[in-house]
Amino acid sequence: MTAIAFIGLGNMGGGMAANLAKAGHDVRAFDLSEAARKKAGEQGCNPVDRMEDAISGAEVVVSMLPAGKHVRSVYENEGGVIELAGEGTLLIDCSTIDVQSARAVGEAAAKAGFLMVDAPVSGGVAAADGGTLTFMVGGPEEAFGKAEPILDIMGKAVIRAGESGAGQAAKICNNMLLGISMIGTCEAIALAKKLGLDPQNFFDIASQASGQCWSLTAYCPEPGPVPAAPSNRDYNPGFAVAMMLKDLKLAQEAASANGASTPMGAQAEALYAMFDALGAGNKDFSGIMKLLDGSLSESGWTR
Ligand code: NAD
Repeated sequence: MTAIAFIGLGNMGGGMAANLAKAGHDVRAFDLSEAARKKAGEQGCNPVDRMEDAISGAEVVVSMLPAGKHVRSVYENEGGVIELAGEGTLLIDCSTIDVQSARAVGEAAAKAGFLMVDAPVSGGVAAADGGTLTFMVGGPEEAFGKAEPILDIMGKAVIRAGESGAGQAAKICNNMLLGISMIGTCEAIALAKKLGLDPQNFFDIASQASGQCWSLTAYCPEPGPVPAAPSNRDYNPGFAVAMMLKDLKLAQEAASANGASTPMGAQAEALYAMFDALGAGNKDFSGIMKLLDGSLSESGWTR
C-alpha cells in the first residue's frame, strides 16, 4: 500500500482518486470544494481538510487541477507540495496545462531534488471513472519508471513522450487534431444532409472509406450512428466546449511561441470561441454540429 496525496477531485480527479483507493492505496484526498472531498470519502479515499495533511507523509503526490496557474500555486507557493513533501516523494501532475508552466514546475521540483512527471490524459470522465485513460508522460526516465505503475491503475495506456513538458506538448497537439477533425466531420455530415443523403447511410460509407476518423466512428456528432456518443443525449459532456477551447488556445500559444504554422488549428480555435461566446460552453464539443448545420437557433442553447 502506497500513501498517495491526491489534489484536485473534480470531474476527472474524483474518479482517478477512487480507482487508486480501489486498488488498495491509502489515498489522502484534498480539494478546495467540500462536496468533492465528501464524495471522495464515499468512494474509499481519506478526505482531508488541509492540503498539508494530504502531503505530509505521502510517498506520491498526484494532482488533477484546472490550469497552469493552479498547478504552479499548488506546487510552488509557500506551504505547497515542493516545500512540504518529504524526501523522495514522487510528483505526478495529470492536469492539462501550458508547456511553459509544466516545464517551470518540473524544473522547480528537480531543483528541490524531486522526481516529477507531467502526465496529462486523453479520455473523458467515463475513462477517468473506468480507469481507461491514456497518459502522455513527460519527465526523466527514472521518474517515468516510478510513475508508470501508479498511472497503470488509472489508465489503459501510459506512454512516455520525452523530457519535462513533453506530455503537455503531446496532449495539446492531439487535442488540436481532435478539434480540427471534429469540425471537419460536422461539415461533411452537414453537407451530406443538404445533398439529401441519409446521415446513417453517409456514416456507413465514410466510416469504411478514407474519411474515417475517431470523431466520426467513436464520437459521431450526428445523433444515431454511435449510441454512446454525446450527440444522443442533447450533447451533454463528455468533453465540454470550454475545455476544448482551452486546449486549442494552448496549442495556438505554443505554435506562436515556437514558430509553427497551424492555420487549421487557428480556425478551430476561432470557431470554438464563437460557439462558446454564443452560450454553448457547457455543451459537449461535438455540439458544434448545430453551429455548422444551421440548427443552433432551434437548440435553446444560445444566450
Ligand atoms: P474540474 O473543474 O471538474 O476539477 C478541478 C478541481 O480542482 C475542482 O474540484 C477544484 O475545486 C479543484 N481545485 C482548484 N484549485 C485547487 C487547489 N488550489 N487545491 C485543491 N483543489 C483545487 O476539472 P476536470 O474536468 O476534472 O479537469 C481537470 C483537468 O483535466 C483539466 O486540466 C482538464 O483540462 C483536464 N482534462 C479534462 C477532461 C474532461 O473531459 N473533463 C479530459 C481530459 C483532460
